[in-house]
Amino acid sequence: MMYSPFRHINAVFSKKNPIHLTFFITRRCNAACPFCFYLKAADSRQDMKNELSLEEIRKISLSFGDLLWLAFSGGEIYLREDLPVISRVFYKNNRPAIMLFPTNGLLPVRIREMTEQISKIAPGAP
Ligand code: SF4
Repeated sequence: MMYSPFRHINAVFSKKNPIHLTFFITRRCNAACPFCFYLKAADSRQDMKNELSLEEIRKISLSFGDLLWLAFSGGEIYLREDLPVISRVFYKNNRPAIMLFPTNGLLPVRIREMTEQISKIAPGAP
């Protein structure tokens, strides 16, 4: 099911609740772009211990209302094994009309497999 963006027209004018969220889910990355702001923290680029847990992410999701637009960001977001589960949490709790999954594209098989899992969360969505 795809959620209509028109649900948010009142929120656009009232500006009471955020309807756009860019959510950083990992700083881990399998690339080393010279312009990346994470390069200064090179030691922690492969570090998982500072990542939010799924339960912490669920609480953050519940602290927001309906979203028009949800963009995940990193790091390379497909390095998080639980990306499909995280996607489901936000889709269920925040009903975004648009979800973005930016990637550096260096893991095409993994990206395809996980994207297929994610696409099952919202059957019929483009
Ligand atoms: S792909 Fe993105 S996160 Fe990874 S090194 Fe390049 S700019 Fe940084």
